[in-house]
Amino acid sequence: MSVKITDIKVINTAPEGINLTVVKVLTSEDGLYGLGCATFAYRYKAVTTYILEYLRPLLIGRDVKNITEIWQLMHQNAYWRDGGIENNAIAGIDLALWDIKGKMANMPVYQLLGGAYRKAVPVYRHVDGQSIDEIVDQINYYKDLGVKHLRVQSGGYGGGLDLRAPKHAPLGSLDGIYLNSRQYIYKTINLFEKLREKIGFDIDLVHDVHERIAPCEAIELAKALEPYHLFFLEDPLPVNQTEYFKNMRALSSTPIAEGELFNNEAQYRFLIVNRLIDFIRIHITQIGGITPAFKLAIFAEQFGIRTAWHGPGDMSPIAHAANIHIDMAIPNFGVQEWSGIRPPNFVIQKLSNKEGALLEVFDGLPKFIDGFVYPNDKPGLGISIDEKAALKYPSIDEVTTWTMTRNYDGGLVLP
Ligand code: MG
Repeated sequence: MSVKITDIKVINTAPEGINLTVVKVLTSEDGLYGLGCATFAYRYKAVTTYILEYLRPLLIGRDVKNITEIWQLMHQNAYWRDGGIENNAIAGIDLALWDIKGKMANMPVYQLLGGAYRKAVPVYRHVDGQSIDEIVDQINYYKDLGVKHLRVQSGGYGGGLDLRAPKHAPLGSLDGIYLNSRQYIYKTINLFEKLREKIGFDIDLVHDVHERIAPCEAIELAKALEPYHLFFLEDPLPVNQTEYFKNMRALSSTPIAEGELFNNEAQYRFLIVNRLIDFIRIHITQIGGITPAFKLAIFAEQFGIRTAWHGPGDMSPIAHAANIHIDMAIPNFGVQEWSGIRPPNFVIQKLSNKEGALLEVFDGLPKFIDGFVYPNDKPGLGISIDEKAALKYPSIDEVTTWTMTRNYDGGLVLP
């Protein structure tokens, strides 16, 4: 018997000050619905309109079981494809359909993807400090919690130097985050040299370039960091400069993770088949959901390439859970970024005044224990939402400022 889509709703909420978009797909079977994540925090109204005005009429009446066919229908229906707005909207539906399929099968989604390949998912968390001592303190704090992988930054992405101070920037400089790539490179090499002297090699370290330097500088940095044996260097090049990975591969043994901004499988293909990177960094809603992400993971496995998927704050617990379900099932999992949500038994030192609001709105978050994350064993993705609580935290309408990154001469550079 077919189960049909009867309605699609969108719930926008910002429990911890970041806009999150949840999609609820209702069905013809009493009480059966699915939840997906369509979070594009900085354009949430456009994604909401896309879902309600274009996908909802397209999908009502269709059989919820045919996920791949529905995904392809959504993908080609607008003729022009692969935009960020479109893909996040599609992902919201796709995740909700996987949630529904799991509930119909009475199994967690990782069971539908082949079952548990591993017992748990090791994660990396973030530390960031202005001084070596401050960073070492944070590393020791996380080591005590059992964390085995840490991303280390000093002063945010690109070093975060305050070049608006007198004599550092041109007269009349505009607001923004000012960068000096040369100083950032010297500072980062020094940082990892000092860190390895102080903490040794019994914890895995990651560093995120966030695409903020020139291609030749990214190669220089990858080569210079070799003695400190990173787990990987994250997103060293932007999507329009990925040919430079050939040079980086030839010149450096530092492992490379790339792709949190990629929004289609073709952007990965050249890098995977030529074995130019070591980890694919899919952002599960930007790529269009579980359906394309799982295919890409299987494709990468054939080339010995592992996964290290994006897990930021601007992603709802439903998308984090989707990451964890795939991580559980695939042989070529590497590590999972785990920055955005704080599981119930995880205590951090500096609590923000909104701490806990996420847990008031969402239930069923994957559990963090001793550096590993475990999905719950509820059917589907295992996350529920308290829609009344979500209303208490309305989405925020403001001009996005953190992406206003500038070179020291005042010119814009990628964030
Ligand atoms: Mg990153």
